[in-house]
Amino acid sequence: MDANKLAAAGLYFTNKTDIVRCAFCGVEVGYWENGQYALKEHQRWSPFCEFAKVLGAGNIPIRSNDEPEKSPEQPTEMCAALNSS
Ligand SMILES: [Zn+2]
Repeated sequence: MDANKLAAAGLYFTNKTDIVRCAFCGVEVGYWENGQYALKEHQRWSPFCEFAKVLGAGNIPIRSNDEPEKSPEQPTEMCAALNSS
């Protein structure tokens, strides 16, 4: 799963294999298969997530309210960790 696409769907990688988490609603989605779309799965498992709803409407906010900029976990670091193990 492409990290950029996940980020575009409001998701980021956790430390658990291929499980990603929404920074807004906290839903976790894993076991990605080909053809799955991050946003679609996000909405499927968390239909009431405001962030997923906004994304689904095609109206992506530049930044949400006064939420400070935070980059939860860098996928690149995760890859490096996996490679070194
Ligand atoms: Zn969400």
